[in-house]
Amino acid sequence: MIINFETLRYFEFTPVLFLYCLLGLLMGSFLNVVIYRLPEMIVIDWRQQARDFLDLESQKEKSISLCMPRSHCRQCLKTIRFWENIPVLSWLLLKGKCSHCKIAISIRYPFVEIMTAGFSVLIGGVYGLTAEGVLILIITYYLIVIALIDFDHQIIPDCLVLPLLWLILIAASVGYLNTPSGAILGAVAGYLSLWGIYWVYKICRNQEGLGHGDFKLMAVFGALLGAPMLVSMIALSASLGLLIALPMLLKKADFQQAIPFGPAIIISGWVHLLVSEPFKF
Ligand SMILES: [Zn+2]
Repeated sequence: MIINFETLRYFEFTPVLFLYCLLGLLMGSFLNVVIYRLPEMIVIDWRQQARDFLDLESQKEKSISLCMPRSHCRQCLKTIRFWENIPVLSWLLLKGKCSHCKIAISIRYPFVEIMTAGFSVLIGGVYGLTAEGVLILIITYYLIVIALIDFDHQIIPDCLVLPLLWLILIAASVGYLNTPSGAILGAVAGYLSLWGIYWVYKICRNQEGLGHGDFKLMAVFGALLGAPMLVSMIALSASLGLLIALPMLLKKADFQQAIPFGPAIIISGWVHLLVSEPFKF
């Protein structure tokens, strides 16, 4: 994607953009559910696997999926009615509080919905209704979820990052986003770049400085942008990572705590995606 004066010249309000905005708001609402529920589902699954591995008696776990149980208030457990679940609007009408117990509903819910709608309109404005636009849209939705789950829990789930990598490689194999060789070599270079930094840090300091999810996320951007672009991408990610980490470190005054690097990689990668063409070879 290239955002410049030339592309923005065609950026007019059209029914297509309205559709993108509507889709973005609805998807933002769904992404909120994924961001909140998926980590819980993964932890339940890990516990079950650990019990199986240790031959421990299985325990009844809370039954949770992306669809069930229906959306409810975390405090009073009241099921959220249809009109209380309209993106952004419901939060405003309810003044950010549960209609039953009046506990505050985080402003992050409407924020994610507005952000998703904003990105959708931007992508719609640049690409219109094209296959490449739909692909970038899906990739962006994945990245929003990964960034916020990593921010909250310091994990980058394989069930998100691996399908995303496959999607880009398959798209490249049929002529979208990047050339097949550019995407494959970029993915390898992306993975190895952080894997190398991880091992240098581990050998020198005997500590793990990066999570394995970060390697896979960098492979995603390597496939999207091409290997040569990774140099500036990593430089920007490191600077952003420092900016994100600094307030957290100062607040807790614990310099050993885990800091999420995923959001920094994602912001940097998305900015690169926005202002440059993939390096195709
Ligand atoms: Zn409530």
